[in-house]
Amino acid sequence: MPTSPARYPSSEPVEIAEKLVYSFGDGQAEGGSHLKELLGGKGANLAEMSRLGIPVPPGFTISTHLCVRYLKEGQLTDALREQVREAIEVLEKSTGRGFGDPDNPLLVSVRSGAKVSMPGMMDTVLNLGLNEDTAAGLAAQSGNDQFAYDSYRRFVAMYGDVVFGARGSNGNDPFEERLHALKQERRVERDIDLSARDLQQLAADFRQIVVEHTDREFPADPWEQLWGAVEAVFRSWNTKRAIDYRRVHKIADDFGTAVNVVAMVYGNIGEDSGTGVAFTRNPSTGASGVFGEFLVNAQGEDVVAGIRDPEPIAAMQTQMPGAYEELLETCSKLEQHFRDMQDVEFTVERGRLYMLQTRTAKRTAQAAVRVAAEMVYGGLIDSNEAVRRVTPEQLDRLLHPTIDPEAAVTVLATGLPASPGAAIGRAVFDADRAAEMGANGEDVILIRRETSPDDFHGMVAAKAILTQRGGMTSHAAVVARGMGKCCVAGCKTIDVDEAARRFRINGHEIHEGDWLTIDGSEGRVIEGKVPLVDPGLDEHFEQLMRWSDEVRLLRVRANADTGPDARRAREFGAEGIGLCRTEHMFFEGDRIHVMREMIVARDEAGRRKALDKLLPWQRQDFTEIFIAMDGLPVTIRLLDPPLHEFLPKTDEEIAGLAKELGVTTERMRHVVDVLTEVNPMLGHRGCRLGMTYPEITEMQARAIFEAACDAAAAGHEVHPEIMVPLVAHVDELRNQETIVRRTAEEVFAEKGRHVEYLVGTMIELPRAALTADEIAEVAEFFSFGTNDLTQTTFGLSRDDAGNFLPQYIEAEILPRDPFESLDVKGVGKLIELGVQLGRRTKGNLKIGICGEHGGDPASIDFCHTTELNYVSCSPFRVPIARLAAAQSALSHQ
Ligand code: PEP
Ligand code: MG
Repeated sequence: MPTSPARYPSSEPVEIAEKLVYSFGDGQAEGGSHLKELLGGKGANLAEMSRLGIPVPPGFTISTHLCVRYLKEGQLTDALREQVREAIEVLEKSTGRGFGDPDNPLLVSVRSGAKVSMPGMMDTVLNLGLNEDTAAGLAAQSGNDQFAYDSYRRFVAMYGDVVFGARGSNGNDPFEERLHALKQERRVERDIDLSARDLQQLAADFRQIVVEHTDREFPADPWEQLWGAVEAVFRSWNTKRAIDYRRVHKIADDFGTAVNVVAMVYGNIGEDSGTGVAFTRNPSTGASGVFGEFLVNAQGEDVVAGIRDPEPIAAMQTQMPGAYEELLETCSKLEQHFRDMQDVEFTVERGRLYMLQTRTAKRTAQAAVRVAAEMVYGGLIDSNEAVRRVTPEQLDRLLHPTIDPEAAVTVLATGLPASPGAAIGRAVFDADRAAEMGANGEDVILIRRETSPDDFHGMVAAKAILTQRGGMTSHAAVVARGMGKCCVAGCKTIDVDEAARRFRINGHEIHEGDWLTIDGSEGRVIEGKVPLVDPGLDEHFEQLMRWSDEVRLLRVRANADTGPDARRAREFGAEGIGLCRTEHMFFEGDRIHVMREMIVARDEAGRRKALDKLLPWQRQDFTEIFIAMDGLPVTIRLLDPPLHEFLPKTDEEIAGLAKELGVTTERMRHVVDVLTEVNPMLGHRGCRLGMTYPEITEMQARAIFEAACDAAAAGHEVHPEIMVPLVAHVDELRNQETIVRRTAEEVFAEKGRHVEYLVGTMIELPRAALTADEIAEVAEFFSFGTNDLTQTTFGLSRDDAGNFLPQYIEAEILPRDPFESLDVKGVGKLIELGVQLGRRTKGNLKIGICGEHGGDPASIDFCHTTELNYVSCSPFRVPIARLAAAQSALSHQ
């Protein structure tokens, strides 16, 4: 048999001599965890476990390479059939059974497994190899007729569904309907209460259902069954739900799934058998200790589907102590080996433990941080690895809201706390409706009896998920955790009626559209809307941040306009303010009136009158910010109000302002008309305002320096940095700089005190970037305003792009919204040029970025490689930026 490993990438033509099938079992394996691309995660790790001497049932894996080829050509190759036949022979030897042997049948499971885990998205067939003869053989061999025929009818239904796609015209599951009818006839509640004869009859009825729905005979030949199942698993790569899942998780479509064919082991063969799922640590909190669920006398599918309620894993200790001890040891061995938390599936057959799968466990953000930190303490990984292990998106989730503990709440019901966080939304009872309302911008809570992969698009659209059935490892729980959405599962006391679009609880009814609050951390379902609060961050988070700070080269500042924002930013670790937008200080209350008064003033005297009123407010705000940022730099940008945001719009606003200023409404309307611009974003804003009305710059500089002197007098260390916006030409900066410096001298003389300060500029217009060498002759620092720089480089209005940009993203003309993640190729080139030219004039010129991109991990990586000094972002994104900057430093070491 040829043994050379398959070549990659998979788009290359397959050669006849290529190895397509990799066997494992009995403490050996042809593959291993290094072959994930080829064998998929499940196959590679089954092989690895086998090598480690961990008990796995023997089997083999068909390479992902074949999936790609099958999807292209629509048929299995002879070379594959040949190698599968050889692998089945090996399996027969290993198990001592024969494939299709009626006296001693070898039965197998056929499962998907891509290199990236896509839980429940692709297909599986269990008990393959059963027919009338082998089922009788299994019955005789196991001494358990009921088990044998139960396996048989499950196999026919699964195969009928997966391979033949047998569905009722109403979309219902015809096998489930037949089973339900039989249970009613026999007046039994549970499948397990049906007799072996009934189950045998059911298998025959199911085969007939296949004929009726597909006009094809159900194959009795195990080989025919096997080829059909392999093809079906390959095809399941392209089901709608699998494609949707890949889209959401940004997984490429082109690498395909492997197929794992594994000897069956049975958890449903008696009370000394069972099946379960376990995590080597708690996936919600990260606490150490094996965490999981277990079902006696059941198949794995029963646990995952949430059909029966499993018991906590500790229950195994009394019921099957030997297998329990071995499971704990195995979990510890797996963690040591893979140096990460694992998520395992196992089966106990007559007291013997078999591991069916291990993979890196999905975990909540909280658990990710705690596990990473504790693995460093435990010596499994180093602190740099801990920094690499937590994604910026996970930190983002950690900063998600929880329910205000002070709030009065009406708890309707309590279920399992399946995925933490809290969310508010309207009740919706089907996935399509959730997707539809979500697309309209509505907040919805998806409520289902239990979820299935077909509900995925609804789960994506929902703010939270609530299910009546299922455990901590049910579909709803696993998928919600993966997406970082809050979820309450297994909320047994609610009675969900999906058709009627409502649920009942203690005589109360919740209908579609009713508001609910879901508390995924506590498992609570709360009536109405409840106030939420920002989360407190624990010691593991603080530790991870310290490790990040040790390695990152970029400094992280915050965009903050008020004292409270500045304080919060500092709590999150901001090392200064990178952008204080002074016009934002005038959004609220009376201030907007005075700001408008200044804008519409007809002459300098009128403007000065308004400015005199604005000055004390500004001074007070600046003082607060300087105090909050004691010892750290504070970049204050001179006024940059796009006029359309500040001019009065409605008749009422115009009349009100006219009255305040003692002019007629007509006069005021005229003034507003004159000031109204066709392109306000390219109009009279930024430094152009200070150029035409120098008294504005004077007032602001005065407010800044008076505040700085006051804060310094009170014992605080102040580092003001005055930033001039929207500069295109060096002389604009020179002009404004002169006013700022003159005002500074005046204030210092009045106050009898001097403070050090810098005057710099934003680089947010292409001309500024292109002439950065000239601008650096005056500027003491640069800050890239990538919002405007993106707007002006693309010629794309920040205010109007939303109308058409989503289509560009959909059509993949742009990979991401360039206002969200920096366009490295275009805008990035201007930044690189600006940095290069600026530092050519001033070698150690301090350069930062303060557009929205300052909090986006991909853009931060660009800032790192471009050797900026700092990024500046909103306070809540500061921890994310600290982590992202550290990860960039590590990845470019
Ligand atoms: C920018 O343009 O990137 C910027 C930070 O300024 P603003 O968003 O206020 O225009
Ligand atoms: Mg700007």
